[in-house]
Amino acid sequence: MTDTQTPNGWPQPYRLPDAEPYWAALSEDRLTYQHCKDCAQAVWPAHSFCTHCGSRSLDWRQSSGYGTVWSHSTIMRGPTPVWAGIVPYTVGFIQMDEGYFLFSQIDADPEAIEIGQRVAVRFAQRGAQKLPLFVPA
Ligand SMILES: [Zn+2]
Repeated sequence: MTDTQTPNGWPQPYRLPDAEPYWAALSEDRLTYQHCKDCAQAVWPAHSFCTHCGSRSLDWRQSSGYGTVWSHSTIMRGPTPVWAGIVPYTVGFIQMDEGYFLFSQIDADPEAIEIGQRVAVRFAQRGAQKLPLFVPA
């Protein structure tokens, strides 16, 4: 998919070929990440080689879907009409239990979100693409 907008206005992600398994799994409500078979570390974002050791021996694993809020920011003025329609909303980096960081929406009362808070993945349809978002665990 190369469209950056859908008719209902949700901006669509730019799907790089290395990450295609990630997008396919999301459509089945599964959160996945790349894993290096040589050094056993999570590789994220997806690459054609391991960013830790340079190995090209990568596979895909299913994430537990749990992590910790690393950073967060609440948006008060949406950048497009659909985002403006759901303000205020919060985005931030989640440190996943597998060790990688995922930038995502955190769907909770902005006043209640804290650094270090445990969160769990949920899935939301955004235009043609299903995307992960996180809620308090
Ligand atoms: Zn590696």
